[in-house]
Amino acid sequence: MAISCLSDLADKVQCPLLVIKVGSSLLVDSGGVRDGWLAGLVTEIAQARKRGQDVIVVSSGAIALGAAKLGLEKGGRGSLADAQAAAAVGQILLSGLWSDLLAAHGLTAAQLLLTLDDLEDRRRYLNATATLMRLLDAGAVPVVNENDSVATQEIRFGDNDRLAARVAQAAKASAVLLLSDVDGLYDRNPKEAGAKLIPEVAGVTKATHAMASAESASGMGSGGMTSKLQAAEIADLAGIALVIANGTHDRPIARATGEGIGTLFRPRRKAGARKAWLGGRMRLRGALVVDAGAAEALAGEASLLAKGITRVEGEFVRGDPIAIRTGDGRVIAHGLAEYDAAECALLIGRHSNEQAEILGYAPRRAVVHRDQMVLK
Ligand code: GLU
Repeated sequence: MAISCLSDLADKVQCPLLVIKVGSSLLVDSGGVRDGWLAGLVTEIAQARKRGQDVIVVSSGAIALGAAKLGLEKGGRGSLADAQAAAAVGQILLSGLWSDLLAAHGLTAAQLLLTLDDLEDRRRYLNATATLMRLLDAGAVPVVNENDSVATQEIRFGDNDRLAARVAQAAKASAVLLLSDVDGLYDRNPKEAGAKLIPEVAGVTKATHAMASAESASGMGSGGMTSKLQAAEIADLAGIALVIANGTHDRPIARATGEGIGTLFRPRRKAGARKAWLGGRMRLRGALVVDAGAAEALAGEASLLAKGITRVEGEFVRGDPIAIRTGDGRVIAHGLAEYDAAECALLIGRHSNEQAEILGYAPRRAVVHRDQMVLK
C-alpha cells in the first residue's frame, strides 16, 4: 500500500484512511460560512465513505467564525486572548455545521479538540490514537481542531497543517490532503510570472523550503506554505503521503484526484512508529552539545556516549526530548535523554565505565540511545 499518484487518494486499497484538512479561508469569507461549498465537500466525503474509505476531517474556522460573531477585529487574530475567545464561540458553530452536514448523508460527526501536548506526550498520543481508532471502528467521522481556547502560546500548533499531519500519524492514515487556497507548491512565489506548479516532491529538502513563500494568500488562516512544508516533513517521517491541493473549486477532492492538480509529497521511507512520533516533536527540553567525534559516530547511527558531550543545556529530566548539536549550533539529532540534565553535566567527557562510580548507578551506557534518536 503506497500512494504513488494523486488518483490513489480516491482508491480504498491504496488509501483506506484519508485525513482532509480544511483551511479557514475555504470555510468562511466576509459573508460568513460558505454553506454551498461546504455542502459540496461533505458530499465528496460521503462518496469516499461509500467507496469504503475512512475519513478524518481536520477543520479550521473556529477563530474566523467566532470573530465574526463577536465582532472582533483582525479576524480574531489580533491577540492570543482574542483568538481564544473567538475560538470558544466559533467552535460551537463549527461543530454544529459539520454535524448537520454529515448527518444529511447519514454520517455521525465526532468532535475532537486537541492540543500540542495531547500529541507530543507519548501516553496522551497513544490515548488520542485509541480514541480515533474506536470512532472510526464505530463508523463516525472524526472532526478535529486545535483546542484553541486553552492552548497557550507555547503549547500551540497555531496552524492546522501540522495538526493534520500529527493526527494522520496518530490514526495511521495513508495520506493527508491539505485543502487550501493555492494549487500546491510552486517553484517560486506563485504570483511571479512563470511560476510552475510542482506535481511531486520526494521528501522535503532545503531546496523545497526555499521555494515556499511564508505569506498566506488569504490572511484568514495562519498556515501559509511554510507550515504546509513542516506538515509534509512530519508526514514524511511517518511514511505518510501528503497532498496540497486547491480547495477553492467546487468538488475539490475530485479535482485533485481526477484531474491530478496539486502537489504530492511522497514519503521517502517508512519510519518506525516511535521514531516518527519522536521526529515530529516540537517542544525540546534542552540540548547536548557534542564534539566532532561524537557527531561523526551519530551520523553512523551510533548511540551518544557521555565521552563526546561538551556542554549540557536546559533543565530536562530522563525521558525528555532534547536536541543534540555541534558547538557551532548545527542540530544533528533529536532524541530522548536517558539521564537528567544534572547527571549529564556530571558525565561530560567521561568514559561510560566511569558512570556507575560518578552517579552511584548506571543503568544505561548511552546518554541517548540510537533507538530513541532521529537524525536531522
Ligand atoms: N484552529 C484554528 C481555527 O479553528 C485554525 C488554525 C489555522 O489557521 O490553521 O480557527
